[in-house]
Amino acid sequence: MNIFTAMVPNEVWPKLVDIPRERLEELKKKGIKVALLDYDNTIDIDRSTAPSDYSLECINYLEMNGFKCCLVSNAKSSRSSKIAKELNLPSVNCAHKPRTDGVMKAVSMMNVKVDECVMIGDQVFTDVMAGNLAGCHTIMVEKYQPKEIWYVAIKRPFEKVVRMIARF
Ligand SMILES: [Mg+2]
Repeated sequence: MNIFTAMVPNEVWPKLVDIPRERLEELKKKGIKVALLDYDNTIDIDRSTAPSDYSLECINYLEMNGFKCCLVSNAKSSRSSKIAKELNLPSVNCAHKPRTDGVMKAVSMMNVKVDECVMIGDQVFTDVMAGNLAGCHTIMVEKYQPKEIWYVAIKRPFEKVVRMIARF
């Protein structure tokens, strides 16, 4: 896999809960059992300090459809572990995406193989790349809310270029 193909997700949906049940069923048939989840702007607003109804809705949706969930967040350990605890989910905090070590740590924590995982996130240069480079199925969702911290916002124009070229 070259660096450019690593930026292209297997699929894109507006929001996590927009992934149709039938699609989740297909993923399960392909052997995918675990959803590795980005937190900020994937299942909650950016920089949230406590889980919202939407994050619970996302997790319920995945669990009801037979997936185990694990947070894989680049957020500081203090915030990310607190959120994971409140969501009652295992987590890898400070995951250093697009590096793959955080993803691989989650894979081993969940006791599955990497190709039994789907990485779901809102950013090309962190979530999608880490998931693809590790060997997961990758789903990109559009950012949940427009507001985001500056060091994420500055990457969006570059993301736009990649998305234009690769058409996703
Ligand atoms: Mg995010």
